[in-house]
Amino acid sequence: MNCLVCRKPFAVPWSPATLLKRDWACPDCDKMLTPLNEGCPRCGHPTVDGATCGDCVRWLALGLDLTVHSLYAYDEAGANWLHRYKFGGDVVLARQLRDVLRATRERGAVYVPIPLSEERLRSRRFNQAELLARMIGPTEQVLVKAEVSSQRQLGKEERRHRTNPFAVQQLPRCGKIVLVDDVYTTGTTLHQAALTLRRAGAEQVSAVCLFRTLNKSKMRPI
Ligand SMILES: [Zn+2]
Ligand SMILES: [Zn+2]
Repeated sequence: MNCLVCRKPFAVPWSPATLLKRDWACPDCDKMLTPLNEGCPRCGHPTVDGATCGDCVRWLALGLDLTVHSLYAYDEAGANWLHRYKFGGDVVLARQLRDVLRATRERGAVYVPIPLSEERLRSRRFNQAELLARMIGPTEQVLVKAEVSSQRQLGKEERRHRTNPFAVQQLPRCGKIVLVDDVYTTGTTLHQAALTLRRAGAEQVSAVCLFRTLNKSKMRPI
């Protein structure tokens, strides 16, 4: 068997359960990503004694209440992994995390990937969040994203008043929506998407995110 990630051959331990599994990463590659456990209950950021982190306290103060289940730390290994998957187009890599993603599945929930703008989708050719969402459960394209000029092109004033780029196409019939994204950096994207869904009448909105950054937040109000 060759490792899905480093492609080196390795011996798969035999058991009836392993017979059914086809997508294997070797033990070395499996250890590379750092799972987030016992951190902030609202976003997974490591905190002392599982307290709510400063970012989430600020979001809550703005009246934005969203729980994000982040799976791994966006450390060096996480960044390398995501770069290869997202920008290198190595989509097979996502299979390494299929079991971890699927374990987050909630009964009766619809998984809504954070959309790319049409222009971005054309250049990247796939939506990295959509592939992750499909590994968890039933997926619907509920949101669309308008093109926003890149941050560098925006003036300071415009950046401060940047509008929410998301719009709802059609709400799913089930009342439980779980947003899916690849990386939680400032939290702005997920909070904007959640706010859009709630304003359109969604009853329950939460999120699953593959990575959570660990550096100081540059959060800005939305
Ligand atoms: Zn490997
Ligand atoms: Zn938090």
